[in-house]
Amino acid sequence: MSERIPTREEQDGDGEVRYRMLYESDDKVYIRHIRGVFTRIRKYTGLPLLLAFFFIPWLNIDGHQAVHFDLPARQFHILWATFGPQDGFLLAWLLIIAAFALFAVTTWLGRVWCGFTCPQTVWTLMFIWAERVCEGDRSKRMKLDAAPWSVEKVLRKSGTHGIWLLISLATALAFVGYFYGIRDLVVDLATFNAHPQGAFWVAFFTFATYMNAGFLREQVCKYMCPYARFQSVMYDKDTLAVYYDARRGEARGPRKKNVDYKAQGMGDCIDCYWCVQVCPVDIDIRDGLQFECINCGLCVDACNSVMDKMEYPRGLIRFTSEDELEGAKTRFARPRLFGYALVLLLMVGLFSLEVLTRSPVQAEVLRDRGARMYRVSQGLVQNVYTVKINNMDQKPHEFTIRIEGKEGYDYSLRMQRGALVNPGEIYSVPIRVSVPQQQLKETKHDIEIVIQAKDAPELEDRHKTVFIGPK
Ligand code: SF4
Ligand code: SF4
Repeated sequence: MSERIPTREEQDGDGEVRYRMLYESDDKVYIRHIRGVFTRIRKYTGLPLLLAFFFIPWLNIDGHQAVHFDLPARQFHILWATFGPQDGFLLAWLLIIAAFALFAVTTWLGRVWCGFTCPQTVWTLMFIWAERVCEGDRSKRMKLDAAPWSVEKVLRKSGTHGIWLLISLATALAFVGYFYGIRDLVVDLATFNAHPQGAFWVAFFTFATYMNAGFLREQVCKYMCPYARFQSVMYDKDTLAVYYDARRGEARGPRKKNVDYKAQGMGDCIDCYWCVQVCPVDIDIRDGLQFECINCGLCVDACNSVMDKMEYPRGLIRFTSEDELEGAKTRFARPRLFGYALVLLLMVGLFSLEVLTRSPVQAEVLRDRGARMYRVSQGLVQNVYTVKINNMDQKPHEFTIRIEGKEGYDYSLRMQRGALVNPGEIYSVPIRVSVPQQQLKETKHDIEIVIQAKDAPELEDRHKTVFIGPK
């Protein structure tokens, strides 16, 4: 099976039509370096995210790594909070919020996530920067690749791959550091004492980053990323995306700067292929909106600089909507966008409330299964419970347990041992609650078991249960 797909050489203008099998590997993409508004915006959005990714694992709070996903201990430490397996619903909630955020942003601004913040794009562009530093811009890189091996070629290629490997290793260390503990990881690796699993994952992510950003690049966006496949269902006629204004650009063709091209029936596109040469996913935006387009805006910057050189107005390729291209106005206020934004707002509000009001101490009270419903001894009716205290704070706490029940009942409580609970520990302590038999007026009544940290009274959890006595 074959289809006619213009090759890089054809796009570069030698005019010869070639055919390529659909399963044939793509030609290497040599991206032309371009400056412009969107390149700058990406720098200002990508750089803080990159810095955050690399430096957050090094942040310490109260002697602990501020963000540490401690899988063996099944605890996730985020700033001052510790989350455990019982908080799995929060993670599910967070993923749903992320999905709705993606729907809302895609409906509004198309695939800006892909073009400006997606790690695949950011890392690929970092790797291309390394190529440019060591091997030069597009035409020099193409010449170098076509040239036979020489000392210069070996040195330049070694430089590129050396920087790629350094970036990959730093990425892997930072990523695994979130789970292993970055300081321990670096020291353990340097002294050859790293846990085999830790060392394996560092090697794995180094290799994965090197391959993904160095070689797979646009193939990940085109063939592996599921988002590319379903994003089109979120687009509507008012979604802002990168479009080529065909009404203004056609008929395209080369011309001299100061000729009256309109008189010759030509449009503003000078057919220079710059928009194609800067495209990281190797498409020609002039063929219309395509699912591969990641909305990175590089072709906008490229075309604008061509328009500046030709002294034509900017915006032949621009962020706009289908409606605007057809002469109407882009509608920002539309039901679908409001719907997504409303659900998103609601879910973020509820999630924040849940996290902010969540006590770092959670307790569970169980009636002791092995024990009888109640015992009567020396005029006292006794019930046995097991209290499970989950300390999700970053510090150890000693807990007191008290009973709040009916007015006029003298409750007494005996604990078999103290309740000193370490951070992240789930501690079980059996308790015996007694009431003088002559005070009991009913078979069953509600009591509340209150668990409170001695050194921090605000860390408190209450549990309702029943106290059972003789009929
Ligand atoms: S950069 Fe602009 S002028 Fe050049 S080919 Fe692309 S659309 Fe046409
Ligand atoms: S067509 Fe333009 S916006 Fe789309 S991926 Fe290529 S360069 Fe980026």
